[in-house]
Amino acid sequence: MQELNLHTDSRIALVDITEQVNVAVAESGVKSGLCNLFVPHTTAAIIVSENWDPDVTTDMIVQLEKIVPRAGGYLHGEGNSQAHILSVMLGTSLNVPVREGKLALGRWQGLMFAEFDGPRDRSLLVTVVKA
Ligand code: ZN
Repeated sequence: MQELNLHTDSRIALVDITEQVNVAVAESGVKSGLCNLFVPHTTAAIIVSENWDPDVTTDMIVQLEKIVPRAGGYLHGEGNSQAHILSVMLGTSLNVPVREGKLALGRWQGLMFAEFDGPRDRSLLVTVVKA
């Protein structure tokens, strides 16, 4: 298992980490298998999304903020319930197949670290298993 250290620059951000994860996959030496990604946080998530047109990322953030508003009459005293809810909705774990030593993503797909309570230093656990 490897741990990637990430830094996010804003409260909500979708950060393309495809290349960093591909480096970790290469370092694992696994040519065919499965890459598990795990976010050990309760206010962030990991997703697969389009990483070519940045407008997709902007649209996603705008709509996520509408679906789960920042101020929603929440009880949680820390004031970041929106982040907790979005983390659960998008998910903190993901599996991507590994083929020929790289993530077998589709042409327009990228791996995005989803920050909902930044800016912060974050980590991502990457486990690559041979299959
Ligand atoms: Zn909280």
